[in-house]
Amino acid sequence: MSEILKLVEKHDKYRAGTLNLQASENVLSPDVRKAMASDLGSRYSLVLNDHDAYGGTRYTQEILEKTMELTAKVYRAKYAEVRPTGGHIASQVILLSLMQRKRNLLSIPEKYGGYTGYQNGYLPQMFGVQNYDIPYNQETQEVDLEKTEKAMKSSTPALMVLGQSYFLKHYELKPLRELCDKYDCTLAYDGSHVMGIIAGGAFQQDALNYCDVLFGSTHKTFFGPQGGIILSNDEDLMNRFRRNLTWRTMDNFHPSRVAALGIAMEEMSNHGNEYAHWVVKNSRSLGKLLSEGDVKPLYGPWYSETHQLGLSQKSLEKKNLNFRKFSELLEKNRIVIDREGRVGTAEVTRMGVTNMEKVADFMNRALAGEDVSREVGDYVSGLNISYWGEPQ
Ligand SMILES: *Cc1c(COP(=O)(O)O)cnc(C)c1O
Repeated sequence: MSEILKLVEKHDKYRAGTLNLQASENVLSPDVRKAMASDLGSRYSLVLNDHDAYGGTRYTQEILEKTMELTAKVYRAKYAEVRPTGGHIASQVILLSLMQRKRNLLSIPEKYGGYTGYQNGYLPQMFGVQNYDIPYNQETQEVDLEKTEKAMKSSTPALMVLGQSYFLKHYELKPLRELCDKYDCTLAYDGSHVMGIIAGGAFQQDALNYCDVLFGSTHKTFFGPQGGIILSNDEDLMNRFRRNLTWRTMDNFHPSRVAALGIAMEEMSNHGNEYAHWVVKNSRSLGKLLSEGDVKPLYGPWYSETHQLGLSQKSLEKKNLNFRKFSELLEKNRIVIDREGRVGTAEVTRMGVTNMEKVADFMNRALAGEDVSREVGDYVSGLNISYWGEPQ
């Protein structure tokens, strides 16, 4: 047997025996996996001026069109684009379409959870633009509107991008929209982390009422294959984005991935409301439960409006641990979180968990030095993927 395939099988077996609380990840349903592994994975399709440049595409274009249609419906958007092969590719399309060289960008600072890609040295450098910080209040997890107006006055940005990788609270979009109108700035929302809870109606339902474009990853709270989507109600903007896909930011759109996304979109359309509300309920209840033990969450008593919780580094330092060491300790106990102090409830919710007591208990006992790996393994083997297939 292939060496790599052996490793793949080892990986699958290993991760099937772990409790995944990584905020950026999720699990794929059996139907989605089937599409990922289908013949579509090595095919091309490219429609130019109403003709496909390739043959054998009898079904490929129908899959793409139906997936776009359903995506627009799920997000109640006029237009949806599902070809970007990642959230980062989608953000490249946005920057390329909305900014000229030497113009300024405003985004949430990295130290408050903003996406690293928007920091100077990454995307801004590629596109010859300059990024400035959106003034942000760490304590309240809110944009500081007064200071933002000052920042806009002095930097006259062409584009403001909202959205965070460390993402606990919605934005007050109306005043930000008004500022953008006043200073002639386009407003974009990078919802990479929260696309699934937006789709399911549990977070920031007004994103497309106020922002010119909503875009992001399809594999974090949205339980699809790895990829990106772009949504807008503005036909002219959407045409600009579409022009910047083929031969600019990418070539082929990975038809197997789009088919898999279409299936995940059907699942979201059927079950998204229940899924998304449980994701948020679970993170808040995990926050409350953890606050009663030694692994302390931040921002009590509200903790979170999303799938994420932020951990208190101080509570870990009492045990001589930091975020990385705590993550490594949990990993020995078959619990996976990232090394940055985030905990996410999207995947456990997809695995049918609606009571976080066990999860909180495992984390606290692992911190106390107990070996809970066997118990965690038993617990995980009793879980089953939920929210897929036809509605019950
Ligand atoms: C994860 C993330 C991205 C990158 O997404 P990929 O799909 O991995 O390319 C972009 N923006 C934000 C805010 C993210 O959290």
